Amino acid sequence: MKEFDIIVVGGGHAGIEASILPAKMGKKVLLLTMLVEQVGAASCNPAIGGLAKGHLVKEIDALGGEMALATDNAGIQFRTLNENRGPAVRGSRAQIDMDRYRIYMHTKVLNTPNLTVAQEIVDEILVKNGKVYGVKTNLLNEYKAKAVILTTGTFLRGIMHFGPVKIEGGRFHELPAKKLSKSLENLGFKLERLKTGTTARIDARSIDFGKMQIQPGDENPKPFSFRTKKPFNPEQLPCYITYTNEQTHDIIRSNFHRAPLFTGQIEGIGPRYCPSIEDKLNKFPDKERHHVFVEPQTKEATEYYLNGLSTSLPMDVQEDFIHSIPGLENAKIVRFGYAIEYDFIQPTNLKHTLETKAIEGLYFAGQINGTTGYEEAAAQGIMAGINAALKIDEKEPLILRRDEAYIGVLIDDLVTKGTNEPYRMFTSRSEYRLLLREDNAILRLGEYGYKLGGIDEETYRRIQEFKEKIETKMEFLNTTFVTPNKEVNKKLQELGEEKIQNKMELRKIVARHTFNKEKLKRFVEEFKDIDDEVLEQLIIESRYHHYIQRQKAQIDRMKEMLSIKIPEDFVFDDIPGLSREIVEKLNKFRPPTLFAASEISGVTPAAIDILHLYIRIRKG
Ligand code: FAD
Repeated sequence: MKEFDIIVVGGGHAGIEASILPAKMGKKVLLLTMLVEQVGAASCNPAIGGLAKGHLVKEIDALGGEMALATDNAGIQFRTLNENRGPAVRGSRAQIDMDRYRIYMHTKVLNTPNLTVAQEIVDEILVKNGKVYGVKTNLLNEYKAKAVILTTGTFLRGIMHFGPVKIEGGRFHELPAKKLSKSLENLGFKLERLKTGTTARIDARSIDFGKMQIQPGDENPKPFSFRTKKPFNPEQLPCYITYTNEQTHDIIRSNFHRAPLFTGQIEGIGPRYCPSIEDKLNKFPDKERHHVFVEPQTKEATEYYLNGLSTSLPMDVQEDFIHSIPGLENAKIVRFGYAIEYDFIQPTNLKHTLETKAIEGLYFAGQINGTTGYEEAAAQGIMAGINAALKIDEKEPLILRRDEAYIGVLIDDLVTKGTNEPYRMFTSRSEYRLLLREDNAILRLGEYGYKLGGIDEETYRRIQEFKEKIETKMEFLNTTFVTPNKEVNKKLQELGEEKIQNKMELRKIVARHTFNKEKLKRFVEEFKDIDDEVLEQLIIESRYHHYIQRQKAQIDRMKEMLSIKIPEDFVFDDIPGLSREIVEKLNKFRPPTLFAASEISGVTPAAIDILHLYIRIRKG
């Protein structure tokens, strides 16, 4: 048996991140995947990032992951979504050339020292005395390892639906992983079903773009990765926008009886926030039209992806309804849309490290844990990889807290609450949105990335420099007072700003909603040569000073509360407001602290508040 430290099963978005960083950390890693050329394939939309997802990509980058670098390398359009809204809810999104993205990732894994790649299908997880020791593949090879990370995406017992046509597979023309599902069941895991879907792809020559609204990329595109070299001037392609109409809706509605989603053919639950077009029409019957974003799949722009039209309707219906949409009247479908059902496990089977509670050394990451999206998958992949490597070295695990990272929110939500539908990230899932911004991901997590070995010396030096500049300049804004004299008010007027009447901290002027980077440079002589990124941080920190301070104080209180000890003889049974399920779990695990109680799956923040109150009452 060949021996490795870590075996990663699956070369998708989770698997890539789960393999590369541990290999950089010095672990001997084996990546087993079905088709090596499909490493890093984008199964669905040719895009990375988006609202809250952009946060995840930047956090992965700060830890030393690959997704942001690959996106900058393969991006063909970059946009900041919600640009005019608050910094907490802005999201970076890029269209990618999906071929280049795949080739970048494929080349990366095959060039990473300590990382071996092999094209084999894993059929069985080898376990002895509750501990994983390796895997067995379809070629009857057995590989030994101290940790195994499963990142099988949509492949476990995958079934694709093209109208009434059902084909077994993990993605179009790729095999399903059937034996592995059986192996997991034999190990005692209960597998449940979820569903997702994709849209048709259209031959570019058959699209009339003149009938569509053009959507260009940002004039000053920003890279995803802190490590991408500047100036950053990628060649950008436009996307297009068109809409469904009454005719489209009539065609789809009159074929509801043939839709696998409604006939009972599809049993798995689909993504609530990325529904198929038939699902949208069913749930929102009064909506007169739906957006369709027409997005190039590669730089050559030979095929376009119809974002918003995911469907598993029969092929003749797909043709008919697509032809009813302006600009797509003569559309030639290169690939039909389809839905896919697959097995997943409830993530409540996992610890915060993504190691299974039942089997030591076995980790799950990505779509197998009930999530949807490349970014959510990659975020779990990197954390599973890091924690598997740390455990092998007998080091403390890295568990990102909810107030530290969206990755912390994602994993905490999954392992404590579980999910019954494909889980995707939203900024609204975080209690500390103003602290967890995209623009400060590198400041929040770069230190971890460096300590783990994911971030090189030079990048770390730049992060430190960035941090120091913000701290010293912020100190300056907080301690410099401006008096309402003639000169100051003249300068303010020249900038189109209101005069001041009272002496105040410079920070308060910078905090005005009318103030911006340009004005800051002109108003404060000392700031005229400061980088844009630093100025942006100064404006955000000034503008949201009170909220940020309040959130930080809240976190401190929370940390203090979670450290409170639960008396050994504390009786949980009679506490009003705790569900029977929570009481049973508390009695079973007898957590020593409120923090330990909060780690138990199903014990909600509200339950922790109640426990806190009753511990205080008992103490008198
Ligand atoms: P994947 O990217 O699926 O990668 C899994 C990898 O595991 C593959 O490389 C496969 O070869 C390998 N593998 C599986 N089993 C084995 C085995 N036994 N042995 C060896 N290798 C194995 N996401 C969205 O956010 N929105 C959408 O609208 C959307 N639609 C989708 C539509 C379709 C048809 C599909 C297939 C996926 C869709 N997704 C969508 C999901 C998206 O593809 C995933 O979120 C993302 O790819 C998950 O990443 P992952 O790494 O978990 O798995």
